[in-house]
Amino acid sequence: MKIPETNFPRVVVVGGGFAGINIVKKLANKPVQVILIDKRNYHTFQPLLYQVSSAGLEADAIAYPLRKFIKRYKNSFFRLAEVHRVVSEENRIETSIGDITYDYLVLALGTKTNYFGNETIQKFGMPMKTVPQALNIRSLILQNFEKAAIEDDLEEVKALLSFVIVGGGPTGVELAGAIAELKNQILPRDYRDLNSDLMEIHLLEGSDRVLPPMSQNASKKAEKFLKRLGVQVHCNTFVKNYDGVKVTTNTDLKLESETLIWAAGVTCRTVEGLRDECYTERNNRLKVNEYNQVLGYDNIFALGDIASMESKDYPKGHPQVAQPAIQQGSLLGKNLLKLMAGKSMKKFKYIDKGSMATIGRNKAVVDLKPYKFGGFFAWFIWMFVHLMALVGFRNRVITFFNWVYNYINFDKASRLIIRPFKKLN
Ligand SMILES: Cc1cc2nc3c(=O)[nH]c(=O)nc-3n(C[C@H](O)[C@H](O)[C@H](O)COP(=O)(O)OP(=O)(O)OC[C@H]3O[C@@H](n4cnc5c(N)ncnc54)[C@H](O)[C@@H]3O)c2cc1C
Repeated sequence: MKIPETNFPRVVVVGGGFAGINIVKKLANKPVQVILIDKRNYHTFQPLLYQVSSAGLEADAIAYPLRKFIKRYKNSFFRLAEVHRVVSEENRIETSIGDITYDYLVLALGTKTNYFGNETIQKFGMPMKTVPQALNIRSLILQNFEKAAIEDDLEEVKALLSFVIVGGGPTGVELAGAIAELKNQILPRDYRDLNSDLMEIHLLEGSDRVLPPMSQNASKKAEKFLKRLGVQVHCNTFVKNYDGVKVTTNTDLKLESETLIWAAGVTCRTVEGLRDECYTERNNRLKVNEYNQVLGYDNIFALGDIASMESKDYPKGHPQVAQPAIQQGSLLGKNLLKLMAGKSMKKFKYIDKGSMATIGRNKAVVDLKPYKFGGFFAWFIWMFVHLMALVGFRNRVITFFNWVYNYINFDKASRLIIRPFKKLN
């Protein structure tokens, strides 16, 4: 890997997501050698992936090059590689570009889409966990519009203009709202030859309300906002099958759609070599103690989405959202320096800063203890928080100007089919 030898302890961080970049920041220019490894050369700001999918933002507004991030830190190195295996007896990991030894290993691999074993949904459904997947969705939506514009068969036009989003959590809700804006703002102007009334957006949620992790108040408001935008919300509805066109569910609802977007679940990314008992049965998270140490290992740590730190307040581990990853990454950076100095580490305590979701222009819901509200002010807060959370000044500026432009012009600026998506048959 061409990493220079040093006398400093070596910390290998796998994953340049929220957790990974925050631990690297804390170890920056300290007497340690830090090696950040990721299979992509950029950090992805996943909360805004839906805007890439729905043509609101270009991908480079939400992705940040990891080499650019790391260049400020003289003690840190980046390697583009996929980590395959941990050989803990030898303090070594095996990667796609060779092996590397570590004194401390930090795993922050995040999650991948979970289809719960349904192979047809996996084959025909569209996941939205990565930038390429978001771009696939954008291409497919725009390709469907193009096909519908020249199609004579009305049933086929309807299927092309029908969008089914599975999963009524924040991702599904935000995406449904954004696709509804395409229907309301873009279709009538760009596709004058298409009857935009034929376009349908269906949001399917298995529980009895959308946004199940948020308050009842937020769920009610979000559903109201979605319906106002023209989204058809189906609660208590599970998808049983999807053959590329026909969607069957546990209810009477049967839909025909050329596009099913799967936002219904995640499971953890794993690496080989760790003992089986380290993983939770439910969703493959790595069991960690309050210092993020993986069960049974002194010098292997797990952070963020893949870490399950069970406590009285969080018996199933922390929610798989950005804040636990950010907070755990920062604390572990400080704790590793303490550990190396022979001092005792500080226990992790999650500070819940609340949750929010936006549902199109001027509308959002926010749960901030003790305040719960929705509407324009919530939308403003949502925008501010997301802008500030984006990595990199340039990305913030691009995103801000895009949003202002889109807001003033009722537009979506990125309606390009750069890399056509080839749907399976
Ligand atoms: C569509 C979507 C919307 C979301 N919206 C919100 C939101 O609004 N608010 C919120 O708080 N949270 C949201 N989340 C969740 C949030 O993004 C995650 O909780 C957060 O990214 C977790 O951070 P992490 O560092 O644990 O993992 P990630 O950010 O997922 O980073 C993991 C990194 O590990 C790398 N990696 C994985 N496997 C390997 C390997 N074998 N070798 C090398 N590198 C590897 C990946 O390339 C990735 O860069 C959303 C998630 C998604 C998918």
